Amino acid sequence: MAIYQIVEIGSEVLREKAVPVKEITPNIEKLLDNMLDTLYDANGVGLAAPQVGVSKRVVVIDVGEGPIELINPVIIAKEGEDLDDEGCLSIPGITGQVARAAKVKVEALNRQGELQVIEGEGLLSRCLQHEIDHLEGILFVDKAKKTSRR
Ligand code: ZN
Repeated sequence: MAIYQIVEIGSEVLREKAVPVKEITPNIEKLLDNMLDTLYDANGVGLAAPQVGVSKRVVVIDVGEGPIELINPVIIAKEGEDLDDEGCLSIPGITGQVARAAKVKVEALNRQGELQVIEGEGLLSRCLQHEIDHLEGILFVDKAKKTSRR
């Protein structure tokens, strides 16, 4: 078990387009394990690899229903719209109202290299979109209608 340091806004890696994972090596499995440890340690709901300084298309999420591991995730369907408050472990102390799709369908590999489809609504939908934005170098403050200090 290892806890990574979470990088904060202003760090270049958060603005890079993350690179797809070509092969699921032991190092990728270790990255997933440590990212989950880091997520739980920070009491977060989602974490993307660029947030721990690794520019790879890897995301972990747990909205209270158990861990979800996503390798090379792609949003394949979106439905509806939902405006709600959002925060980010890389932007401590700031929340903002962000419009997101109410429901999304995401395709990604799991750590066995199998293609999985995850459907999310509510917090899970928001979290999936937020984390996949991180892989494009996009932060929620870029999209927020209004931000405030917590
Ligand atoms: Zn974030």
